[in-house]
Amino acid sequence: MSNDPIDRLMALADAARDGAYAPYSKFQVGAAAEFEGGHIVTGANVENGAFPSGICAERNAIAAGMAKLGPTARLKRIAVSARDATGVDRDAPPCGACRQVIAEHGYGAHVMFRWEGRAIERPMSELLPFSFVL
Ligand SMILES: [Zn+2]
Repeated sequence: MSNDPIDRLMALADAARDGAYAPYSKFQVGAAAEFEGGHIVTGANVENGAFPSGICAERNAIAAGMAKLGPTARLKRIAVSARDATGVDRDAPPCGACRQVIAEHGYGAHVMFRWEGRAIERPMSELLPFSFVL
């Protein structure tokens, strides 16, 4: 495994895909959320027969991290990784709902995902400009 922290976070997201419950889409997604202070929590997508009840890997990881670290926890980075039913890596930037949740817990966070086959990193503010915040 690489010593680069960004590569390591993406590798953790890759590994987290093994925990996906995706019997319907066969699209396995993993996420690794790094919070300020260095805590890293992973998550995977969990689908449901009542489709809207499923949840994305990113929101699972963030929710688990917030539950573990408490309401003052701030997201520093999050990596997202997906593969299809044949095991091939797929491009998977966060969906709109996940972008909103990432923004809530870390508008200054950086987001890593594959795009056009290679891992890239973007600031959350670029992925969701003019974010809604209460
Ligand atoms: Zn999502």
